[in-house]
Amino acid sequence: MKNLSSFAERLTRPSGIAELMQDLGEAVNSDDPELCMLGGGNPALIPEVMDIFRQETQNLLNNNTLDQSLAFYSTPQGDKNFIDALCQFLNDEYQWGIGSKNIALTNGSQNSFFYLFNLLAGDMACNNCEGNEEGKHKKILFPLSPEYIGYRDLGLSDAMFVSQKPGIEYLDNRQFKYHIDFEKLTITDDIAAICVSRPTNPTGNVISNNELHTLDQLAKKHNIPLIIDNAYGLPFPGAIYTDANLYWNDNIILGMSLSKLGLPGVRTGIIIAAEPIIDIVSHMNGILCLAPNNIGASLTTRLIQRKEILSLRDQLIRPYYIKKRDFAMNLIYQFFDNIPVQIHKPEGAFFLWLWFPELPITSKALYQRLKEKKVLVIPGEDFFVDIEKDWQHQYQCLRINYAQSHQQVEKGLRIIAEEVKGLMTS
Ligand code: PLP
Repeated sequence: MKNLSSFAERLTRPSGIAELMQDLGEAVNSDDPELCMLGGGNPALIPEVMDIFRQETQNLLNNNTLDQSLAFYSTPQGDKNFIDALCQFLNDEYQWGIGSKNIALTNGSQNSFFYLFNLLAGDMACNNCEGNEEGKHKKILFPLSPEYIGYRDLGLSDAMFVSQKPGIEYLDNRQFKYHIDFEKLTITDDIAAICVSRPTNPTGNVISNNELHTLDQLAKKHNIPLIIDNAYGLPFPGAIYTDANLYWNDNIILGMSLSKLGLPGVRTGIIIAAEPIIDIVSHMNGILCLAPNNIGASLTTRLIQRKEILSLRDQLIRPYYIKKRDFAMNLIYQFFDNIPVQIHKPEGAFFLWLWFPELPITSKALYQRLKEKKVLVIPGEDFFVDIEKDWQHQYQCLRINYAQSHQQVEKGLRIIAEEVKGLMTS
């Protein structure tokens, strides 16, 4: 189509996240039994968890709360009962001393990050800058690349993101772990905020408590916020299998979501931040969507009030993903026995990040070859933002979602191993 605005041009460029969601949507709607969907970020449909959401829906129907949620807009900040319940819950669990003015809801955390990145970075407004900030172009820093593919196309101006190469620690059993390279991390005065996902999509990494503490100190020192994307983390959904503290202070902007609890369809994101940030997010909601979705909030309010969300996490969600992770890891050791592969230590979320240091083609080309064999994965390239083009590591990794059925995971991993082995020996 001709005569499009620069806004349309920006949001119709080739995009890793758009391609990923297209694959995901097509796979969900496909009735092809041969397809192995190991791409996308869909959580598993855990039957016992769905039973609980069904029961909560029934409760809402029985007490007419569903009518309220369906038939009324909330305030632009989001459903008040949910926000009050979450505020009380977080203060009980973590003693943060927050008030309900520290929480706003959005239509999914993807929507949260669109607001946050564009309110903090890009071309600075001329009428409210301090000192010599006026007219500057600011950026969001990802201190540890690879980082979530969904961030990179969210900026409303060019060159809004920078990231840094990781340090690589080699571990036993062909595993490795990325670390933030603090020696090289420089926070120049065009950095508006630091952002990390923890657990990290795509690697399943959980940056350590120490790393997080150091980032927090650095952010404070440079008078910029630290954004922590906690979509897979604590207190829910709790897809985190290592020792990690959840951490907040009023220089931290914490993003949460109901998606990875098993509710991606309700499109509910949560932002916990200092009041001025929450005010801006609420105002943006008012302008851009009037009010955020109510349904996810209503569906989970009672679970949060009664803290049943904790047993849901500890008895159902976390054990489920640990089992899936162990199943997939065992298959990797079995199928990739003679193939040079390194596996990122799987500490959280539901992804395995495989690194093939001797891969003779790019991971994008490998993705295409696997797609022809009906195995959908995500190639690693797009998770590395603004990294020197000649760093080969970024073309050698694949992300695999292990949340799907054992049968699909097994079949998909077998095909990936055969394909990679074929490439290495041809
Ligand atoms: N952040 C991370 C790290 C993710 O992996 C995802 C989705 O996969 C999102 C944010 C966005 O999730 P949602 O918009 O469903 O809350």
